[in-house]
Amino acid sequence: MLLEVRDLHVEFHTREGVAKAVNGVNYSVDAGETLAVLGESGSGKSVTAQAIMGILDMPPGKISGGEIVFKDRDLLKLRTEERRRIRGQEMAMIFQDALSSLNPVLSVGEQLGEMFVVHRGMSRSDAKVKAIELMDRVRIPAARERVGNFPHQFSGGMRQRIMIAMALALEPDLIIADEPTTALDVTVQAQVMDLLAELQRELNMGLILITHDLGVVADVADKIAVMYAGRIVETSPVHDIYRAPAHPYTKGLLRSIPRLDQKGQELYAIKGLPPNLLHIPPGCAFHPRCPMAQPVCRTDVPPLYTVDENRRSACHFWKETLDAR
Ligand code: SF4
Ligand code: MG
Repeated sequence: MLLEVRDLHVEFHTREGVAKAVNGVNYSVDAGETLAVLGESGSGKSVTAQAIMGILDMPPGKISGGEIVFKDRDLLKLRTEERRRIRGQEMAMIFQDALSSLNPVLSVGEQLGEMFVVHRGMSRSDAKVKAIELMDRVRIPAARERVGNFPHQFSGGMRQRIMIAMALALEPDLIIADEPTTALDVTVQAQVMDLLAELQRELNMGLILITHDLGVVADVADKIAVMYAGRIVETSPVHDIYRAPAHPYTKGLLRSIPRLDQKGQELYAIKGLPPNLLHIPPGCAFHPRCPMAQPVCRTDVPPLYTVDENRRSACHFWKETLDAR
């Protein structure tokens, strides 16, 4: 396995108390595999990613337990230097907002080339050739002419391609993309997502795709982990989850995807809001919002039940949920 997150716990110590942002998360991704991590904001999906990358704000963020095993090493036991090297060369992250991640006063060619100058000791002119190659690879038209352009001279979709190029530059084994297309138009979203998926397959990288939108992952992900209030509530191969979700929260997320064949119909929304992490509801954290909640849900935290060989659901009533589709 390329990456295994084992029983990860992350806390944020605030003036009002301890927020349990990540509460015993387990997931894994292999080379050539895409794991989509799904959930609303505050579910812990980004915090888990930041813990993997080693870019968690600390303090107040603190990893209070667990292991992050990447290529047979527990990252949490490594020195800062070694983590920085891994972060530069073996894993890379793509963020939602390219404009704030790119340097506005350096040309994209300089920024891409910098990777090769710093990490591979290349000359500026060789690095520029590499930068053009990368821009070609992410299909930026007229790369040779545009290598000297600045980030603001590109469209949002093109900037996101440049972010992908930066992430791919050193051919990492793992890429984490946090809402990589959320800021883009729907048509551009699909193009960028397809490109990312294609390069991921070509380079046989592991990809963790973080999103709140189940609509974007169907074609690119192999498997899905759904998070709620710092825990994983369902894991499944991608196709099974669309066919028959085994958790009421996943079911709600699926029903809130806009569908072309139901134009004009009002979109379903899960009622209520995700919980405040300082006051996570007892029992199943989803119970105040769950249409299937029973008294036991208010008192007993559901374990991750085995639905079948490849699927888990943290719902006391996963069977009824499957049947009620
Ligand atoms: Fe709903 Fe209960 Fe299942 Fe939680 S355990 S998702 S409250 S039915
Ligand atoms: Mg986020």
